[in-house]
Amino acid sequence: MVENLNPHGAFPFWVVRHPKAQGRIPRVAWSMMHGNEPTGFAALCMLIALGEPQSDWTLMPLVNPTGIDQFARCTAEGIDLNRCARRMGPIEADLLKRVLQAKAYRLALNLHDQRSLFHPTGESVPSSLSVLAPKARVPQGEIAPAAAQEWAGWLSESVAKREPNWGYARFDDQYYPEAFGEWCQELGIPTVTVETGVSLGDYRRERVADRLGEALIELDQIDRAEAKHAEIYRTLPFNSPTGTDLLITDGIHQSFWKFEEEVLGRAYQCGISRTLPLEGAEESVYHRIVCEPDFFREMASSDRWTSSELYASTSANLRSFAAGLPR
Ligand SMILES: [Zn+2]
Repeated sequence: MVENLNPHGAFPFWVVRHPKAQGRIPRVAWSMMHGNEPTGFAALCMLIALGEPQSDWTLMPLVNPTGIDQFARCTAEGIDLNRCARRMGPIEADLLKRVLQAKAYRLALNLHDQRSLFHPTGESVPSSLSVLAPKARVPQGEIAPAAAQEWAGWLSESVAKREPNWGYARFDDQYYPEAFGEWCQELGIPTVTVETGVSLGDYRRERVADRLGEALIELDQIDRAEAKHAEIYRTLPFNSPTGTDLLITDGIHQSFWKFEEEVLGRAYQCGISRTLPLEGAEESVYHRIVCEPDFFREMASSDRWTSSELYASTSANLRSFAAGLPR
């Protein structure tokens, strides 16, 4: 059942539920609160396509319609919805709050994408899945509730058993009062913030969307996570923002490159742009390409290459790197 909670507004706010699931475990999930983070949306579509779920899901897959239209983090008004948990407006944030307050959900999933620079500390692969059990501020102090940590560990393990070679991390659990994860946690709903990333050879995030969708379908079938999953969560390496997508070297010189994507007008474009190496960057390079000096000079002649240009490159190594980029 699909309902538009903003029928008289300039854009819809869709909520998806299954009428036959009433009386089962209530759970809630939302995605695209940032309009350029579509992986969770693709995973929720897999859950929706399941037909009749085991749990009583309330799904809000398209929280930020105007941002989605521009493939932008913020709304068309320039507002970051994930900083609006404790203020009035805009309407998208108010509707999300209203839905979250409407039921005693037993789990909330807040689905986001992260940039490719994030990697598990000490590992030279991007973080394909990072999880966070956000802190809740209670009279005793700041706590991450056990059930939220259990589900965070469960989700990480569920994807990791499908893709053991990917990077898995946890976010630092600094308290962000304006964010929805923290606010939702304080409502008493065990909340997990999920940040999906790229995997090597798949900067389109298609595989991570599929694996997350499979994990959600598995989660739908089970009643609860266990204490051992909280331990899995607590022992995940922290996310570190020092990853570098590509290093090109001719054996003497080297240049560092990061993946970039943008939308200009209605045209999506992606590619790589030259970047200064961050401290420790050499240890966290995901791809290394060794080339002839002539080719190195050719690459160094520009600070930016689109994926189409890379795809047409004379270097077979670079072409195979480009094959994993969105086109
Ligand atoms: Zn986000």
